[in-house]
Amino acid sequence: MTQDAIEQAWDAVVGTARRTVTDGLVVGTSGNVSARVGDLVLVTPSGVPYDRLTPADLVAVDLDGTRIRGRLAPTSELPMHLEIYRRTTARAVVHTHAVHATAVSALVTELPLIHYMAAALGGPVRVAPYALYGTEELAAHVLRALDGRTGCLLRNHGTVTYGDDLDQAYDRTAQLEWMCRVWLTASSVPGLAPSLLSAAELDEVAEKFRGYGRPR
Ligand code: 13P
Ligand code: ZN
Repeated sequence: MTQDAIEQAWDAVVGTARRTVTDGLVVGTSGNVSARVGDLVLVTPSGVPYDRLTPADLVAVDLDGTRIRGRLAPTSELPMHLEIYRRTTARAVVHTHAVHATAVSALVTELPLIHYMAAALGGPVRVAPYALYGTEELAAHVLRALDGRTGCLLRNHGTVTYGDDLDQAYDRTAQLEWMCRVWLTASSVPGLAPSLLSAAELDEVAEKFRGYGRPR
């Protein structure tokens, strides 16, 4: 892997982490972002405001979590990020404490099928059971909740999504937060309960998505 590719990937990690703050998906140093470059995983450092990060702050670990580059401590959620890279096709991972998603994580064990965009995350979005942040236990819960999905909620905590690149992982987080907001909005009208999609209706969407955005 060339030095250039690593530096470019770090710029993208920092840019995405800053976006989570400016778009209101996290406050302060909450959340974390990573990208895989060859056998290296570039991760945001723990507890450092993203607007202060420079090229000199690059943190890289291998898939076992050994720090290969940098002097800052990697994100405390390293076990979760690494487990996702080891067990899925992820090239980028985004973790946030987005408001509506976190609220939903405290109410249900699966986000009700309020919108067809659930198909973009692989199906109904599960809520991983609660465990202390930064633990292997939380990483294991998240891996189970991600089975067949590219995103999940973490109970009383937030979101995690992954993708082929940072833009895709970020977009999935934004879609998930938006769906949670729609469900909360629709379910807060007194005396009315929102209609939901059936599994068959979602399957039909998933099928249609397979050709979406491609030349016909
Ligand atoms: P870090 O600052 O260590 O990345 O932790 C933030 C967080 O969201 C933990 O769940
Ligand atoms: Zn967190």
